Amino acid sequence: MDIAAFQRRIEEIYYRRDSARGLAGTHMWFCEEVGELTRALRRGHQDELEGEFADVLAWLSTLASIAGIDLEEAARKKYEQGCPRCHETPCACP
Ligand SMILES: [Zn+2]
Repeated sequence: MDIAAFQRRIEEIYYRRDSARGLAGTHMWFCEEVGELTRALRRGHQDELEGEFADVLAWLSTLASIAGIDLEEAARKKYEQGCPRCHETPCACP
């Protein structure tokens, strides 16, 4: 599943509810999920990490949808040519 397909899938599952909640409320849920990922990373619980990374990606995706952002296009525009500042791969910024 590529980024665009993932964003569409999350829209199919959650867009109606998340868009009704709105950007501010959904952003709070996103932050909560980032907190859960932080705790899983800190505890070093490898079994929890996969699910927490998936949750953060899903909430990021739904936020992008509500904000009218195509995540794949945004990622491609910014990073396809390498580092956005120095345009090198790997980054050669000081
Ligand atoms: Zn760079």
